Amino acid sequence: MKRVGVLSVQGDVSEHTTFLSKVCTTDFKVSEVKTKDTIEQVDALVFPGGESTTIGKLLREYEVDIVLKKIASKGIPILGTCAGLVLLAKEGDEQIEKTRQPLLEVVDIKVSRNAFGPQRESFEHTLEIPVLGGKPYPGVFIRAPAIDKSWGKVKSLCEFEGRIIAAQQENIIVTAFHPELSGDMRLHEYFLDLI
Ligand code: GLN
Repeated sequence: MKRVGVLSVQGDVSEHTTFLSKVCTTDFKVSEVKTKDTIEQVDALVFPGGESTTIGKLLREYEVDIVLKKIASKGIPILGTCAGLVLLAKEGDEQIEKTRQPLLEVVDIKVSRNAFGPQRESFEHTLEIPVLGGKPYPGVFIRAPAIDKSWGKVKSLCEFEGRIIAAQQENIIVTAFHPELSGDMRLHEYFLDLI
């Protein structure tokens, strides 16, 4: 039985948990994780969207930032969506620098927060994601970030309006959009295949 954890600090934790429960076969156990011990025991981890400034502060307060870096470097598959993408990034834009928002600095990307406008300009758009096959993928963007620069072992998985909005660095997948709200299971399946 493989343990899939959903980091339950803040944000759309229940949406990911509910969606994963539909995607996962009986070989997987999905549970919410927040403590050092439970995070260290997962075979894969989902890092949900939400408010990255709040999540970043809480990760430090709960002292789980170090554990997250540790499991990432051990090769445990991690799926970071939206605020999860922001927090996994190695570098941030001017706004992130100015506010000294803490990042985990795990994925070799430079990220811009709110790259497609504020909350009221949230939108849906179909995307081409070659690793998921030819069928268009329904992208849900809510105050989404974008990847301005990538280096090292990072591979772009998807671009939209000339910007990278999904990428993979070995065991880690990051998306600017919300796959758990798409109704399309392919991205979660691709992620679970990394285990
Ligand atoms: N832009 C938000 C942030 O940086 C993320 C939005 C989201 O996760 N839906 O916190």
